[in-house]
Amino acid sequence: MTQKQAENLLTQELNRLCGELGVNPIPKLIFSRRLKTTAGCLRIQHKKGLTTALTIELNPAYLEEFGYSRIYRTFLHEVAHAVCWVRYKDHGHSKLFQKTCLDLGGSLSPSQGGREESWLSEPWRWQYNCPVCGMSFKRKRRFSLPKRRRYKCRNCGARLDTWRETRL
Ligand SMILES: [Zn+2]
Ligand SMILES: [Zn+2]
Repeated sequence: MTQKQAENLLTQELNRLCGELGVNPIPKLIFSRRLKTTAGCLRIQHKKGLTTALTIELNPAYLEEFGYSRIYRTFLHEVAHAVCWVRYKDHGHSKLFQKTCLDLGGSLSPSQGGREESWLSEPWRWQYNCPVCGMSFKRKRRFSLPKRRRYKCRNCGARLDTWRETRL
């Protein structure tokens, strides 16, 4: 699934959930490369006791590595933050938050619990360049050869095992 597809699906889901739960304003949902070591966060803007804007930011690298179902549970964690903020002006990981989050089916530690946490804090180590169209991307872990044989360039269709691999 591409980032754009995930963004569309999650935005629909967000509108539905916020309607059901009475969350107002409805948060804006974005994938942001600014996030480094967290899978997601909720940004709150408020003025004189009024919430002026909410933004759910999700880590696109996390989506690329772990797929939609995992980022969906992170998304629900951030929705739970929005619910707790709007209803109770609660913005931490209180007992109330934990209950709200579990009721929604969200993950209580979206960036933690083993592989994800260590993966998120790792530096980018490998760069791949398409010899045909010049597209490039970075990886934290090296692509195995069988994996590279299966993937194609999203832009021009060149097989990934023809791509140039550079250690960063
Ligand atoms: Zn949280
Ligand atoms: Zn290409």
